[in-house]
Amino acid sequence: MSKIIDGKAVAEKVLAECLEDIQELKSAGVTPGLAVVLVGEDPASKVYVGSKVRKCAELGLHSRKIELPVDASQEDVLAVVNELNDDPLIHGILVQSPPPPQIDEDAIVRAIDPAKDVDGFHPVNVAKLALEDASGFVPCTPAGCMRLLKEAGVETSGAEAVVIGRSMIVGKPMALLLMSKQGNATVTVAHSRTKELAEVCRRADIIVAAIGMPEFVTADMVKEGAAVIDVGINRVDDSSAKRGYRLVGDVAYDEVAAKCSAITPVPGGVGPMTIAMLISNTIKAARQSMA
Ligand code: NDP
Repeated sequence: MSKIIDGKAVAEKVLAECLEDIQELKSAGVTPGLAVVLVGEDPASKVYVGSKVRKCAELGLHSRKIELPVDASQEDVLAVVNELNDDPLIHGILVQSPPPPQIDEDAIVRAIDPAKDVDGFHPVNVAKLALEDASGFVPCTPAGCMRLLKEAGVETSGAEAVVIGRSMIVGKPMALLLMSKQGNATVTVAHSRTKELAEVCRRADIIVAAIGMPEFVTADMVKEGAAVIDVGINRVDDSSAKRGYRLVGDVAYDEVAAKCSAITPVPGGVGPMTIAMLISNTIKAARQSMA
């Protein structure tokens, strides 16, 4: 029987640590501040932005929510980013993805001051991750996955890890973290062109699935006793559900859980960690701004 890794409980633990840090910073005269920029009306993005701002309020962080209309221009968004770069009360800036199609997201990310890039997407922070320079910001979702592995007592050192997915948001930074001196795993990164994926996955002591395809990883792809981190969040139609859909991960949970040693559920696994790590990065940015 596998151990279910409770992401909600671990996120609460991270946030309790954050609360202590926030109080310490406040008594030193600094309230960490996060600005979240939302361009357009994407319903999922609105929910994400709302929960980030709410979490800041709960923890006593300063936050700003800046909403721009769906037809905002690149210059409009850049002007907001530049203003936030110069705002001493703001330590972290996040532009919610995905923006409307007229916005060049890469250029927006590059315009954010790397010292305030709490998403960890700016090229300076990507390089710092590769260089294992601890002053950089690690993208929140893979940072959360590493913490989950640690809290679940999964030994990464010397382990064979397979990361499925090579996005800049999840797969690549996850692979870098696992192979770093912090993770010490032997890492394979799989993607849509990988041959014999099931065979590759069966070698793994640790599988991280970040694909975006419902229940893609099946029991036949998983070695007995492996640890499985499911990053995927997919909506599948379900007429019996109140909203007409339910959320599933990239892993066929029931059959894989029966075989592996530890697994994250969806929802309640990686998801709650992402906000917790964002708050943690904002605190780090505030602390580094004092140096
Ligand atoms: P992307 O679409 O950017 O990347 C998906 C990756 O999966 C790509 O590298 C792609 O390969 C690979 N892939 C696609 N099909 C296959 C296949 N048949 N076999 C092997 N690999 C395949 O997605 P993200 O990384 O942004 O997100 C992945 C999932 O994680 C999504 O479900 C997303 O919703 C979720 N997510 C969850 C978060 C959370 O907080 N829990 C945060 C961020 C994402 P290729 O590069 O060759 O196209």
